[in-house]
Amino acid sequence: MGWKLFRRKKLRSPELGAQAANSVGAESLPMQDTRAAIEELSKVVKNDPEAVEIYLALGSLYRSQGEIERAIQIRNSLIVRPGLDSEFKARAWFELGRDFRRGGFLDRAEHAFGQARELIGDTEEIHLEMARLASERSSFQEAADAYARLDLPLPRAHYLVRHAQECYTAGDESHGHKALKKAVKAFSGSVEAWLEMVIQAYRRGSTAKVVSSLREGLEEVEPGIRFALLEGLYQDVVKAERMREQRVGDDHDWAGSCPTKELVEAVIPLLEELEPDVLLYYYGARLLLKNRDVDQAMSWFEKTLVLYPDFWLARLELFDLSQSEQTITKFFRQQLKFFMDRAREVRRFYCGNCGLKRDTLFFICPRCRSWHSIKFRKDFSQ
Ligand SMILES: [Zn+2]
Repeated sequence: MGWKLFRRKKLRSPELGAQAANSVGAESLPMQDTRAAIEELSKVVKNDPEAVEIYLALGSLYRSQGEIERAIQIRNSLIVRPGLDSEFKARAWFELGRDFRRGGFLDRAEHAFGQARELIGDTEEIHLEMARLASERSSFQEAADAYARLDLPLPRAHYLVRHAQECYTAGDESHGHKALKKAVKAFSGSVEAWLEMVIQAYRRGSTAKVVSSLREGLEEVEPGIRFALLEGLYQDVVKAERMREQRVGDDHDWAGSCPTKELVEAVIPLLEELEPDVLLYYYGARLLLKNRDVDQAMSWFEKTLVLYPDFWLARLELFDLSQSEQTITKFFRQQLKFFMDRAREVRRFYCGNCGLKRDTLFFICPRCRSWHSIKFRKDFSQ
């Protein structure tokens, strides 16, 4: 079974060597380790074709390297092997399902998981894969049900929210509301569910409902992720304002959303009621700026610095807002603008688990798939 392990060619000459060596050097250490593991394992299975466990591990390593075809080949060679213990056969089907899922062949993945299930019955692992499969297919209701069976309320609530969003998009408000209610009942800390309630109320123009959902949401969700509610609302306000500017007249989706002044005047007292918090003050200041209340906004930015002197974004905004008070040359102003614009492009969010940085909200990390791991970068070192 002569697998060609590496497509990488051997270095042919010293001139070409530097380029090739750099490309090798650029490979991360875990990647190099995985490749070394594949090489070792391939040697072992060559000499011992009965080593089923090692075959399976080798297939998974190929998958981790994105070499799906090779992974599939290995599983298939096990599945057709006569007299293979049914537990191993089930595992081969299960891993084949994961290979297919990774390769984007969702129907084939479902078939493979079905085969595994026939051999060993319903296991938690199979349920989990089916739940992921449903979510990747955008069958959100099905995904929510699958996570409910797994007794995982957080992902269940998440997919109920995704389902609600589909209902709202289709104009079915009543089912949207129902799904959101179900979501917070399943998991009261579901920040995405509260945010969706806040946003829907905002778009419908109900300031009172924005405030009541926001109040409840800020109480229920874990303090470290509360900022997501305000970030989401703020982004919707920005979007609504842009749409109002672009389209003349009231004939558009955003015409009925809450007037900015009314919204800010209702949300600020709510934030004042809560325990002092850097990010609540920060978003309060941003909202005050939307209302063109510069003096108040500056005092709210200053309040964040009392709590957390290294909070760079507040310093940046204060610096920007006080520019008009300074007499500076045109050249100096240009340079300042350059740095300010660059600083604003810094990605403000990161995953507390794997460190991935993003400039938009996420409820499941796009890299490590952990839930609610989003954090706000309060200082540059984060
Ligand atoms: Zn992550």
